Order: sequence, then C-alpha cells, then structure tokens
Amino acid sequence: MSVDTLTIPTERVQQSRISQVDFDNLQFGKTFSDHMFVVDYKDGAWQNPQVLPYGNMSLSPATSSLHYGQALFEGMKAYRDQNGDLLLFRPLANHKRLNTSAERLCMPELPEELFMQGLSQLLRTDAEWVPSKEGSSLYIRPLMFATDDYIGVRPSLTYRFLIITCPVGKYYDKPVKVAVEPHYVRSAEGGAGYAKAAGNYAAALLPSRKMQEKGYDQLIWTDAKEHKYIEESGTMNVMFVIDGVLVTPSLSTSILHGVTRDSVLQVAKDLGYTVEERRIAVDEVIEAQKNGKLSEAFGTGTAAIISQISLIHHNGQDYELPPVEGREISNRVAAELDKVRTGQAPDTHNWVHKISL
Ligand SMILES: *Cc1c(COP(=O)(O)O)cnc(C)c1O
Repeated sequence: MSVDTLTIPTERVQQSRISQVDFDNLQFGKTFSDHMFVVDYKDGAWQNPQVLPYGNMSLSPATSSLHYGQALFEGMKAYRDQNGDLLLFRPLANHKRLNTSAERLCMPELPEELFMQGLSQLLRTDAEWVPSKEGSSLYIRPLMFATDDYIGVRPSLTYRFLIITCPVGKYYDKPVKVAVEPHYVRSAEGGAGYAKAAGNYAAALLPSRKMQEKGYDQLIWTDAKEHKYIEESGTMNVMFVIDGVLVTPSLSTSILHGVTRDSVLQVAKDLGYTVEERRIAVDEVIEAQKNGKLSEAFGTGTAAIISQISLIHHNGQDYELPPVEGREISNRVAAELDKVRTGQAPDTHNWVHKISL
C-alpha cells in the first residue's frame, strides 16, 4: 500500500454543520467537524477504510473494550498557514506512539500509509473546519478500540480505528496551582504509563478530583515506589528551570513520551539553553524554590502546548513561583514553537507536514 495508490472512499454530508458553529467561542472538545475517518480490523487485516459523516455508532453491549479497556487514543493538531495550506505538526511521531501504545495493549499495528492517508483525506474533506484565526487550530483525535462482542478475557480479534476532529480556539489558560501527590500513582515502572491507554485516564480522575477539592488545579504525579521523584503534571509532561537549566524527568515506562516534551527540549537546545533529562526529586524543586533558584515550572502537551505553573503545594506548604511574564525560557520556546507549527519560521527538524488540498 503506498500513499499515492491508497484512495479512501468518501461519503460527504448532505449539509455541513459549519454555519452553526461560533468560531469565536469554541469550547475544547465539544464541537466536531462534519466527517470522521473509520477503518476496521478483522481476519488479521485492516479493511474498508472510509471517510464518513460524523455520527453515532452502534455497538454490542458485550463490546470487549467497554469491559476490559483495550482502548487507546492520540492527540495532535492541524494549523492553517498564511497561504491557507493545512499544516500538521509531527504527525509521524503521533503515529509511532500510537503503535507503541497498541503493542502494549496487545492491539494490532496500524500501517503508516493508512494513518497518513486517512488523516489527509479527512482533513481535505473537512478543510474548511481548520480555523485560520491566530492561536486556533483543528484538534485531531485518533482512537482505537477492541470490538469483539465477547466477554471472555483475551485480546480482541477485531478493532476499530477512528479519527475525529474538533476546531479549537486559543487556549486561554491561567497559570495553574499544582499539588504534589503523596499517595496515589498514575503509573508504575513496568505498567502502561508510557502508552496513551484510555484506562490510564480513568484511574487518574479520582486523585485529580480530590486535589481540586483541596483548591489545586492539577496534581504532580510522583514515582510509585517512594513518592520522592517527579513524574508528570496531570496529563502533561513537566519541566522546571533550576539555576538557569531546563530540567525534566527522563523517560521511562511510567512516563508518557510527549511529542510536545520532545519538541520543547529540542527548541530549547536550538536556542542555546542547557537541557537535562534526569531524575528530579520533589525536595530538589522545593529547595530550589526556597533558594530563589527555581525560575520556571510548566507542563507540556498538545492541547495547551505550555501550561505555566504558578504555585506548588507540598507537605502542607504552598510555594509560589515567579510571575509568568518574566519566564524567559518557556516564553521564548513557546513563541518559537508556535512560529514553526504555523509555518512562520524555518522548519529545521522536518516537523511540519503540509496537506495539499
Ligand atoms: C498525551 C499526554 C502527554 C502529552 O503528550 P503530547 O504528545 O505532548 O501531547 C503527557 N502526559 C500524558 C499522561 C499524556 O497522556
């Protein structure tokens, strides 16, 4: 199957819903574009890829993913450049991670051609849904789940892969207050934390809600053994600037390998900053704050790109961080990344994939 020879049959909607959408007031994840990409896996092969009108699916109550959680997802964005072309940011990195997650969950690999061709055809079909306003984009949500109607425990023999999309506006997030999680864990070494498994999210809801009830927006996950080392911040990777050095926890089987994490580290290096991937003890960060050496802290992820942290709570104490405006590294890297993603700066790492309309 090559990219050029695989053509995806496309059934267009009778009437687009786009005129009903208020592009100035988009709530994340609530408005879906007209079409979706669908392909099914059975008899050991992916079959019948199609672009169809976005709509409900009918499922057996015995659908195995509903029982045992064989389900994964991805998240990425498309932007419109100044010529009106559609730009994807590092789609092959998302595709690669999708297959890493699939392997961990005993699900079939999805060929790159099928992923890229399905995605391209969907975006061409819904091209009008990619907003052009500054800061806005089309959020892309690929997902895969087990479809056997069988409640015995075993890897499903059939699966469905879909891509749905949502136009999203500028992410006006105020800096978040985070609290170090002393009890719950998101994942452990040897678990599935590095996979974008649906179940990881379900298990994180209760600890997050408990933290929010205490007045914090988000929690900082710590290692499963000692709760001593920092892992992630909510559903984002986390970074700190200590003594002028950008530091982030090194990758492991318990940490999600974020595309934004990787991009931020690379751009920071390109800009000449010192970057370290290593273990970071909670105590190190708290000490650095006390000594005035902690100048920045932020989460990284596709939805917000960079989410600034204004306060860290640990062991009954609130530790305030310097104002966001003065945070040199994260602000510079965010601005630079934004230019690359939208085609306004040279793409030196071949990250941007243009979709021809
Ligand atoms: C998706 C995700 C991230 C961020 O990954 P990006 O590729 O940067 O969007 C970080 N942590 C967790 C737990 C995630 O699920």
